[in-house]
Amino acid sequence: MIHQAYLSLGTNMGNREEQLKEAVRQLHNQKKLDVLAVSSIYETDPVGFTDQPSFLNIVVKVKTSMTAEELLTVCQRIENDLGRKRLVRWGPRTIDLDILLYNHDNIKSDSLIIPHPRMSERAFVLVPLAEIDAAIQLPGTSVPLEQYAKNVQGKEGVKLWKTADNFYRL
Ligand code: ADP
Ligand code: MG
Repeated sequence: MIHQAYLSLGTNMGNREEQLKEAVRQLHNQKKLDVLAVSSIYETDPVGFTDQPSFLNIVVKVKTSMTAEELLTVCQRIENDLGRKRLVRWGPRTIDLDILLYNHDNIKSDSLIIPHPRMSERAFVLVPLAEIDAAIQLPGTSVPLEQYAKNVQGKEGVKLWKTADNFYRL
């Protein structure tokens, strides 16, 4: 069974662009996963805890035969791998990989909530996601994603940093 998923990747430490590239490469190298699309890179103001460096964010569209749980494990392995290579012990992670959507599934387990609970309020997720797929709908809605992206607060804190063409070639 082939599933389609969207992942959000973000980093605000170290060589941010290289870490995004490396994470996409590692996704690409998974046997049970194909990277279908990679958004442009956006530089984004931190939200929540704002006293920290700005982020680079992308969204990646994948197709995979993995279950959502298996995909989460892969994401966490990539987080650990990148963190281990470049970080002081116990320091913050250099990269965060979140699963935004997995088919049109609604998933709620101890380890996983899909759709990602805060995705529809986060400009740094919606803007790159709408770039890849403006028409997709969140499960249980008939509103195209671009509608959320258009109305979301904080869009001024999300700036195009490098176009997809200049970032990652599939
Ligand atoms: P955050 O992404 O909220 O900044 P973490 O990356 O540390 O924080 O994630 C904390 C936990 O969130 C993970 O252990 C994971 O089990 C859980 N989680 C729940 N839903 C998701 C999801 N859709 N994608 C990724 N992680 C998720
Ligand atoms: Mg996370």
